[in-house]
Amino acid sequence: MGSVYDNARSVLERAQNAALRAGHQVTLVAASKMNDAARVREAFDAGIRAFGENRAQELEEKYRAGAYEGASLHFIGHLQKNKVKSVVGKADLIESVDSAELLGLIAQRAAALGIVQRVLLEVNIGGEASKTGAPVEEIPRMAEAAGDLPGIQVLGLMTIPPICGQKEKTLRYFQETRNLFVDMSGKKYDNVTMSILSMGMSADFEEAILCGANMVRVGSAIFGRRIYPGESTKIL
Ligand SMILES: *Cc1c(COP(=O)(O)O)cnc(C)c1O
Repeated sequence: MGSVYDNARSVLERAQNAALRAGHQVTLVAASKMNDAARVREAFDAGIRAFGENRAQELEEKYRAGAYEGASLHFIGHLQKNKVKSVVGKADLIESVDSAELLGLIAQRAAALGIVQRVLLEVNIGGEASKTGAPVEEIPRMAEAAGDLPGIQVLGLMTIPPICGQKEKTLRYFQETRNLFVDMSGKKYDNVTMSILSMGMSADFEEAILCGANMVRVGSAIFGRRIYPGESTKIL
């Protein structure tokens, strides 16, 4: 693994090449969880202009440290109801809205701040019980609900397909999400514009771009493998 700077340059180039092959633009979001402000700035210096955080507290800390200056900030993790307040207005895009209730709470907070919060609807494309994201059949209902929420602008869909280690299966999930995206684009909902499809991570972002993703979220390929608390750092 090289430096954050070199990794970021190489991932940017790979994403741009895939986008050229796919014939559309792509936004690379660096998933910076568990990396401090200095490492975020290193990725910024390499040309990364969007960062995604998973936890509200971590986002706030790095936000205060100026980590995201000049870049767009996304919230990509599971958003707890009691954390809505600290994320709305700071995040340029909340990618992980997984229920109509959460959509309502975000809208309320946005209205209180006098802003419009841009969001993506997160779909649980694999239908896994343990996963975040709304069931496929909830997505049209959530889009419908957005029509009554002036504080909300829905810009598209996000998904994290099941981790299965089989490329063909992952590709099928990407294609299903793309189909849902196209279906949703064909309908008219107030406060909804289907323009962003966010899918693909370190292991599969190029395939995702070729399947229609115009936003990818890449962590470990840029920042290196994450060492979780309690995990041994010894090389066995
Ligand atoms: C951490 C994370 C990523 C990036 O995962 P990598 O496999 O490290 O690239 C993407 N999306 C979400 C929601 C994440 O939490």
